[in-house]
Amino acid sequence: MPSPVSQHSAILPLMHRRATQSLIMLTAIIILWPDPTHIAESESAGAMPGLFALGWQLARQLPLLQQGQHARQSQSSLPSTPPPSPDVKLSRRYAIEAGDSLSRIFSRQGFSQQQMQQIMAADQSLLALDVLRPGNNLTFQLDDNQQLQAMELFIHAGNRVLYQREADGEFSYQELLDQGEWQSSTLTGTIAGSFYQSAKQAGLSDADIATVHQLFRDRLNFSRDIQAGARFQVVRSDNFVGDTATGLSRIEGVRLFNRRQQLSAFLHDNGQFYDANGESLQRAFMRVPLARNYRISDDFNPRRLHPVTGRVQPHNGTDFATPTGTPVLAAAEGKVVRVENHPYAGRYIEIQHYGQYKTRYLHLHKSLVRPGQQVERGQRIGLSGASGRVTGAHLHYELHVNNRPVNPMNAQIPLAEPIPADSRDAFLQRVAFMIKQMEEETMLVQQQ
Ligand SMILES: [Zn+2]
Repeated sequence: MPSPVSQHSAILPLMHRRATQSLIMLTAIIILWPDPTHIAESESAGAMPGLFALGWQLARQLPLLQQGQHARQSQSSLPSTPPPSPDVKLSRRYAIEAGDSLSRIFSRQGFSQQQMQQIMAADQSLLALDVLRPGNNLTFQLDDNQQLQAMELFIHAGNRVLYQREADGEFSYQELLDQGEWQSSTLTGTIAGSFYQSAKQAGLSDADIATVHQLFRDRLNFSRDIQAGARFQVVRSDNFVGDTATGLSRIEGVRLFNRRQQLSAFLHDNGQFYDANGESLQRAFMRVPLARNYRISDDFNPRRLHPVTGRVQPHNGTDFATPTGTPVLAAAEGKVVRVENHPYAGRYIEIQHYGQYKTRYLHLHKSLVRPGQQVERGQRIGLSGASGRVTGAHLHYELHVNNRPVNPMNAQIPLAEPIPADSRDAFLQRVAFMIKQMEEETMLVQQQ
């Protein structure tokens, strides 16, 4: 499926005034970047019984959205115009505030615990409702008896999730995805004071700065070794759907010149960082996040059928038959971003790794880490268990690449090896493009 790409011409508020749009590069990046819809396939379309007004409305407004009686889960790549908000009678919109939880919102809205449990059951394989942030909102669709029939979670302009009641009374979910456009900008600066201050001044976010630190941390001590006058160049991409920034952003390339040292890092389309020669900057991943091997009791299966309802209920991870109390290890270094308790997924941990990787560990007996904590590859992060809705003790392990779940047992995981030979030329070409961009931007800035 070709990426729905068009140039974005509005003035971008997020961009630093020195930043220049690099349109040629943007095209190069999009060509090289895989379409996420290739990773997660959509369910086949079918009849649409049991859909209530909100679902209907959305289905009619978004012709590419595939729905069906069996479509418990689907991903769609939609055109880049923001879909109009559903104009449905009786719909209620709620803007999420800091500190909100689903249970608080539901009780304030007058919905029952049972309805919340049903929604959370539908959200079990996504876990989208566990982290509600200001800026997200919920739209509810009620029937004449004030019973919840559908709910939409708006995460950003490119990511919404629709939960709707099916004929059997249970809820299903659908992801409404629009991958939008990535707009790249080049940010350059000279260090005066700390790297952090100078980078902030050049327009880098805290997350960007953390990424740069992490990429070069083996070769440079940022607090000790950096000299005044050192220069840096960064190519960053920000995601837009229509004119709206989704808040998704990633570093595509960095160069840092400090004394006689020159450091570089470039993001490849496999989600990993390499230096300008194609040597890996990524830490290796463990294939199995356990100290020894356990039997696989259930495989990754995006089309798994629920044994009772017969509907598709994806299994987004691999299950290992670990007895309760088995140490669970971080698959790679990263930062703990979630430690949550879910009625179905149980106690679980999510780790954000560098590059475009994320891992999840479900049904734990106990977590040994806190959100915000840095962890090393192989570090004990918890003990496996049988929490949540399970038939027996096991570890459910998920690997996400570019925000889509992939099969952890056969996905290409980072092995800290040089760039694969078959994509080396494309990588070097792209690096040359980016360096040219960086040099041009540096010249422009120096002329000012
Ligand atoms: Zn599982």
